Amino acid sequence: MAVWIFIVVGFFLQPVFSNHPNIILIFADDLGYGDLGCYGHPTSLTPNLDWMASRGLRFKDFYSTAAVCSPSRASLLTGRYQTRSGVYPSVFFPSSRGGLPLSEVTIAEVLQSQGYETAIIGKWHLGFGLNGTFLPTRQGFQHFLGVPFSHDQGPCRTLTCFPLNTQCYGTCDIGEAPLPVFLNEEIIQQPVNFTGLIPMYLEFSKSFINKAVNDKKPYFLYYAAHHTHYPQFASAKYTGSSPRGRYGDALLEFDGSIGELLQTVRESGTLDNTLIFFTSDNGPETMRMERGGSSGHLKCGKSTTYEGGMREPAIAYWEGKIKPGVTSELGSILDILPTLAALTGAPLPNVTLDGYDLSEFLLLGHKSPRNTIHYYPPSIDPKTGIFALRVGKYKAHFYTQGAFHSETTPDPDCRITALLTAHDPPLLFDLHLDPAENYNLLNRGIPTDLAPVLHEILQTRDQFESSMEYGESQINLGTDTSLRPCCNPECTPKPSCCQCKN
Ligand code: MG
Repeated sequence: MAVWIFIVVGFFLQPVFSNHPNIILIFADDLGYGDLGCYGHPTSLTPNLDWMASRGLRFKDFYSTAAVCSPSRASLLTGRYQTRSGVYPSVFFPSSRGGLPLSEVTIAEVLQSQGYETAIIGKWHLGFGLNGTFLPTRQGFQHFLGVPFSHDQGPCRTLTCFPLNTQCYGTCDIGEAPLPVFLNEEIIQQPVNFTGLIPMYLEFSKSFINKAVNDKKPYFLYYAAHHTHYPQFASAKYTGSSPRGRYGDALLEFDGSIGELLQTVRESGTLDNTLIFFTSDNGPETMRMERGGSSGHLKCGKSTTYEGGMREPAIAYWEGKIKPGVTSELGSILDILPTLAALTGAPLPNVTLDGYDLSEFLLLGHKSPRNTIHYYPPSIDPKTGIFALRVGKYKAHFYTQGAFHSETTPDPDCRITALLTAHDPPLLFDLHLDPAENYNLLNRGIPTDLAPVLHEILQTRDQFESSMEYGESQINLGTDTSLRPCCNPECTPKPSCCQCKN
């Protein structure tokens, strides 16, 4: 009997798993759970993402591993917690000495081994280093067009964010060098022209997709968007076109760029052989007030381990392969690498992986193999470890802390004044009944029926923490201002002289 089951399952799985689909992975920046039209925002215009959600699978319980940029990108691309790769605490800067270690195996490297053409457009933010040691071209991406770090890590006041010379709103990191745009390992623009950035990305992407299709090669395109991170920007086509103001214009341009990618795939005749996965790196910067994102009714936002910091919108779209719908099954950015490896027949990297293969969940409607979510704070300390843990529908907070990035919300727990607090017993929430984390189930002691739940959570945490191997912190290697990329290396005075026309 067992033999027959094996043969029957193998027969059905074969056609699904045996080809090499094209893959487009879209990673939004600081986009909150409540920012998209299809997640309920009343004034956001996101017609293309809404369309993808209507034709694909929309997740209600999908998570990042971090509430800030660099560590979540490390986890996405490696399928491993940022603790293992050393991408903690906080984020990389243009002058950082470290980066995602080259020994880490990325999705691009996994797919390149299967004959994929690989490209990244947009934000890398996994280090630059001496002579570009940590650029994406050193991590399996054959093509790179973008900014190697966050686009607020340059002097905003020298930039134009919207047409008609509207300066970028805010101060950004004015001590850093003007933002460069790289083509592979060469600077082609410095400072970046935000109003022309997305059209340039789209021209590049269309050419990349069409060439791969013409050459009959599968491709992997990683679109790591700058939108909707602060400072907001948009080209002339989108400025003033959203009822949600500057944030809405930026979001609309981002959504429009996804629409153009979809159209390119459609026109190439490969829509039914292309998996498009969309999610975001971390929750919204509510400190930007009306220019920041929204976590909907989830608690707090960026840099916190409340739901608003790490639960993200996510959509998996593959025409004719993934059944349209909405799911409450758990998923994580950690799961993307093992899932893509399974879909393409690629061998898994010979390292400890933290992600699950979701391919049978996505394609065959099985349950998600994931039952836990671990919440690391931005400033990871091995002495405290994870701040919170979700097992099934229950979430326990062992530590809570507010954050600068989550300022201005009415909830005082989100603010910088909410200092690091240990909880023993933990705060416990039922996320199905109380997704906003308002009502601590252990407020009046430990009810008998919740004792086994708490026991399982504590046991799961202990097992996780005792098995975690912390890589050397790449961010604590510090900074060296001479490492900042400059298109005119011999010029003075730096960094202001690092300007090139194109
Ligand atoms: Mg971010």
